[in-house]
Amino acid sequence: MHEWALAEAVVSTISRIASEKGLGEVIEVTIRIGELQQIDLDAFKFALEQLSSQYSIRAKFEFREERAEFRCRVCGETWPFKKEDLGPDISEAIHVIPEVAHAFLRCPRCGSPDFEVVRGRGIWIESIRGGG
Ligand SMILES: [Zn+2]
Repeated sequence: MHEWALAEAVVSTISRIASEKGLGEVIEVTIRIGELQQIDLDAFKFALEQLSSQYSIRAKFEFREERAEFRCRVCGETWPFKKEDLGPDISEAIHVIPEVAHAFLRCPRCGSPDFEVVRGRGIWIESIRGGG
């Protein structure tokens, strides 16, 4: 039911922004989803459609993925998440549990395992286009 909670948050935010900005009708909404975010996209889309109609929103939803990026806390190096650096099982584990990344990844510059996920987590609304 995690997807429903996320969809509820997204739709209520769209509704609030649309009324704050005085958008007549919401035409298109772009949603950015972090590569490491654990989500069932089909369930999320379904929940969005159901909840949108409750809010009388008939927007078209566009989805974009945000590539994950890490930053080393020791030397400041940043690098992208590359699934091909890992075996398929590990890649899947990291997708599901981002914290697992720390057990398998090392800074490519200094080799430190002390890094943070700077991009690639979470779901947010990138843009809302209105009209009417
Ligand atoms: Zn480093």
